[in-house]
Amino acid sequence: MAIRGLALNNEIRVYGINSTAIIRKAQKKHQSTPCASAALGRVLSIVALMGMMSNEQKQIISTINGNGPLGAIHAHYQANHTIRGYVDNPQVAIKINEHHKLGIKEVVGSEGTLSVMINYDLKQDYYGMTNLISGEISEDYAYYFASSEQIPSVVSAGVLVDKDGSIISSGALILQLLPNASEKTINYLENCLPKINNLSKTLQNDPQISHLIKSIFDDFIPLDEVAIKFNCPCTKDDMYAKIMTLSIEDLLEIKEEDHGMEVICPWCSTKYHFNEKDLTQLIKTKVNHQKNDQQ
Ligand SMILES: [Zn+2]
Repeated sequence: MAIRGLALNNEIRVYGINSTAIIRKAQKKHQSTPCASAALGRVLSIVALMGMMSNEQKQIISTINGNGPLGAIHAHYQANHTIRGYVDNPQVAIKINEHHKLGIKEVVGSEGTLSVMINYDLKQDYYGMTNLISGEISEDYAYYFASSEQIPSVVSAGVLVDKDGSIISSGALILQLLPNASEKTINYLENCLPKINNLSKTLQNDPQISHLIKSIFDDFIPLDEVAIKFNCPCTKDDMYAKIMTLSIEDLLEIKEEDHGMEVICPWCSTKYHFNEKDLTQLIKTKVNHQKNDQQ
């Protein structure tokens, strides 16, 4: 469940999510290692909250590429309250850092960029990009909000992963200063950081994100609450379109040698199989298209 509201005398916007169900589904779909799940989970949790920032947004696509062994992390939020995402290398090996925690930074890398593309209903599309400053993801998004959107923000996202790779709990909080914020509010916000750093652990004990928010801000006013789900709307037709970009020669070769092919949707790891008959039909369609083009 994701929640949006105001706090500290209506001087800050608060966005919070318990994303455990989303990240569990992502982990199950991609069979990702604990480190990969944790990194993807942080990004999905934050981007899901970005989805709550305006009603005019049609979709948000955010990519982090830190040039680490994980490859890029991709997230796609749609206005029907669904999100999907993947990492280039979901099998990246687990690394335990000196604090015996999952080394997110080590797998994400810290030499790279964070990009956000937002499509709006009536406004012009927005594209922003910043350099990564840490590779730990939360700090990178905080920096993105401050420098690209000029909104001073505190971001905390965490995923608690069990030894067997299953997701125990996951969540995120984004706190944004409104232009009228007083010095007192700014100080309070800076001091509340330690309280939200153990977000996933707190959610393990009490899954209600609103309880956590109210424990930090006793004047919290909730404005909106929505259920955001992991969902990929891909179909076999989408994959047809992908195969259609192959040349007739390549398609003939695949048909003769492999008698079929498998196409995997990167967003949800669903496998689509195309048998010899499918390929024959596809080649016919392509040949007809070519004939039409020549006429
Ligand atoms: Zn898919």
